[in-house]
Amino acid sequence: MSKRDYYDVLGVERNASEAELKKAYRRLAMKYHPDRNQGDSETENKFKEVKEAYEVLNDAQKRAAYDQFGHEGLAGTAGSAGAGGFSDIFEDVFGDIFGGGRGAGGRGHRSVNRGADLRYDLEMSLEDAVAGTTVKIRVPTRVRCKSCDGSGAKKGSKPATCDTCAGHGQVRVQQGFFSIQQACPKCHGKGTVISDPCHTCHGQGRVKESKTLSVKIPPGVDSGDRIRLSGEGEAGEHGGPSGDLYVQVRVKPHPLFQRDNADLVCEVPIDVVTASLGGELEIPTLTGRVRLKVPAETQSGKVFRLRGKGARTVHNDHAGDLLCHVIVETPVNLNSEQKELLQQLRRTMTESNQEHSPKSKSWLDSVKKVFDDIRFS
Ligand SMILES: [Zn+2]
Ligand SMILES: [Zn+2]
Repeated sequence: MSKRDYYDVLGVERNASEAELKKAYRRLAMKYHPDRNQGDSETENKFKEVKEAYEVLNDAQKRAAYDQFGHEGLAGTAGSAGAGGFSDIFEDVFGDIFGGGRGAGGRGHRSVNRGADLRYDLEMSLEDAVAGTTVKIRVPTRVRCKSCDGSGAKKGSKPATCDTCAGHGQVRVQQGFFSIQQACPKCHGKGTVISDPCHTCHGQGRVKESKTLSVKIPPGVDSGDRIRLSGEGEAGEHGGPSGDLYVQVRVKPHPLFQRDNADLVCEVPIDVVTASLGGELEIPTLTGRVRLKVPAETQSGKVFRLRGKGARTVHNDHAGDLLCHVIVETPVNLNSEQKELLQQLRRTMTESNQEHSPKSKSWLDSVKKVFDDIRFS
């Protein structure tokens, strides 16, 4: 499928300014936005096309490449077409329309007296992070005042309509030729005033309190993952909507395992004899021990992969692998008898015509060659 010219897609001139591009993009994106055209795949494709065109032309570097070489000039840079996720650029352009972000009820600005979002740092073990768990957390927050049910007005009384702005929350102010709309100075935009404030919350409609929450942590979370608990943030002033609570996950370092997305990595030291003759090892996993057969002549650095014994991620049910890095350990604290046995071993290895240490041999050969070359050059 050949691509349409990006300027044609947005319906602008080739010398369009940044503001003109943005304007054209807003108009078309509103028209084709998936939220407004549910299930219509043709409009969805149009939306993607418009979005792609804007992403390129709005980036000075990409725009220059496109102007000079057309679509070819963007090979390898634009490739995001079709892959969902229009949040970043979407919020950039529409932030001022939808009041910054979604979830604010879909219409209009976020309520002026919406409560603050909260963040809770949760530290957890690798085992819990992989298996998933439920934790109880205690969060200092503000909750709706029970005495006045959030209104801020003393029981039996009601907040009165503000007489300055007649309940609109906004007033018009004349400045020279212009008339400007401003938040009402008396009620601070709320539209109501409290003449007889509630004693418990001093008219705020909310009080400080610690609340205990039970949070379900899905299996597979990792450091940096964030769980959003909608409406569990601070209560808003005067009965306004609550903010959200974000639980920020941090997984504690584990003495044996390192995490690599869905995989786990661990080091497994083995002794020289097991490495030489082979044997069986007990390997720990997050769910118990498993036996690992070590073949004879196993070298340091060898990695054994135990399928399905690793971790997992929140994005995928599939269990990852456990990667065991073998380290062959040189024996220490040898007694004289053991040393004598090793001396014997060395003698027999030197006398035999078998190659017992092929790596050392080829290394020594290389060393010899390097020095010979130096000598004769
Ligand atoms: Zn109250
Ligand atoms: Zn007012």
